[in-house]
Amino acid sequence: MTTESALDTARAQLRRTVDLLKLSENEWLTLSTPRRILQVAVPLRKDNGNVEIYKGFRVQYSTTRGPSKGGVRYHPTIDLEETVALAMLMTWKCALANLPYGGAKGGIAVDPHTLSLSENERLTRRYTSEILPIIGPEKDIPAPDMGTDERNMAWMMDTYSVNAGFSVPGVVTGKPIVLGGSLGRTSATGDGVAIATMAALKSRGIDPKNARVAIQGFGKVGYWTAIALENFGLKIVAISDVQGGVTGFNSVADLWNHYKANGTLDAPGTERITNDELLEFDVDVLIPAALADAITDENATKIKAKIVVEGANAPTTSGGDRVLNDMGILVVPDILANAGGVVVSYFEWVQDNQNYFWSADEVKENLSSIMTRAINDVETMSAEKKVTWRDAALMIGVDRVAEAHRLRGLYP
Ligand code: NAD
Repeated sequence: MTTESALDTARAQLRRTVDLLKLSENEWLTLSTPRRILQVAVPLRKDNGNVEIYKGFRVQYSTTRGPSKGGVRYHPTIDLEETVALAMLMTWKCALANLPYGGAKGGIAVDPHTLSLSENERLTRRYTSEILPIIGPEKDIPAPDMGTDERNMAWMMDTYSVNAGFSVPGVVTGKPIVLGGSLGRTSATGDGVAIATMAALKSRGIDPKNARVAIQGFGKVGYWTAIALENFGLKIVAISDVQGGVTGFNSVADLWNHYKANGTLDAPGTERITNDELLEFDVDVLIPAALADAITDENATKIKAKIVVEGANAPTTSGGDRVLNDMGILVVPDILANAGGVVVSYFEWVQDNQNYFWSADEVKENLSSIMTRAINDVETMSAEKKVTWRDAALMIGVDRVAEAHRLRGLYP
């Protein structure tokens, strides 16, 4: 069992990458230090008239390659350390996809399920106004993350715009289409995970036709990944949510229709499995697309898949990662596998700034070309340096940030 915090893991990964790249101690110091941290108190007048105060955060880990970019998470356990870790990962993810962004993350320590709609709106607007001085289309561009969605982004965009005195759609991404959202954003992360899965199968010489896949999580990432992979001809044989999993369904669309109508995965003809059994399923590809730390040094030994594609952020602990590598399982790391979301967020920002909107086909085509380029870069680096795909992905992302630092120099 690991007791490592998310920040410990992220810093250990960075240290290893800095050593692999043979960067200097000055560069380590710069790369391992977040640029700007803001912690705010977010007071909320509840519907019953009482006032509660929540902790809010915004961390701009890096702005060296461009404005910082990253989601806003509403979760009861989120704290400053975890926000720094997630902002650091966003920095390497944006650089790996070669987007002109730094990395950021934010959030409020709140369980959004305990809020009424109007409480959620007031909380979101107050949080936005507290972090307003440091966000903006040229500074830092928030997006949805766990516990937030396009409705929160509409409120954030409106609050920022009211203060600016004019509409500023480019201040956040993941907005509703009518407010300047992008076509293809909803499915983007899953589409990207599917593209990465196809590349990994090719790299391992596995025929995708009827390759078997198990997916942990049936939310935004899990669902769209399942749909995209089924369209590519793969066989999705097991899916789970927080309650556990099922196998034996006809198609992902059938299972989803039942899930939406009844709130349970128990569609006719399916058989129940536990979440542990899902991870150990006899498949070619396992896709953890739910929560962090799902694969540990304890359960990794039981995994039968030949490829693990990380749809979720940090679903594998460092101990789990070592076991998977020792077993010869190819791990497609999160900063590569789930980059599709931030790539299409970037497209949304470009469209907003130009007031010119693309077709769904254009979005898909451009997503595919950026994902494919990043995957090829990682595969090439992995072969050349004889390192894992995770090391290769981090080496490319971190090196691009380090190079930008070198070229910009140190002021004054
Ligand atoms: P979501 O809330 O839409 O879905 C999460 C799913 O995981 C749900 O089906 C839930 O029931 C399931 N789940 C929760 N706890 C579980 C457990 N203990 N065992 C099995 N299943 C469990 O969230 P999402 O947007 O799909 O995000 C999932 C992961 O992907 C997170 O780590 C998130 O940070 C990461 N991610 C999301 C995006 C995006 O665009 N949504 C982009 C990059 C990374």
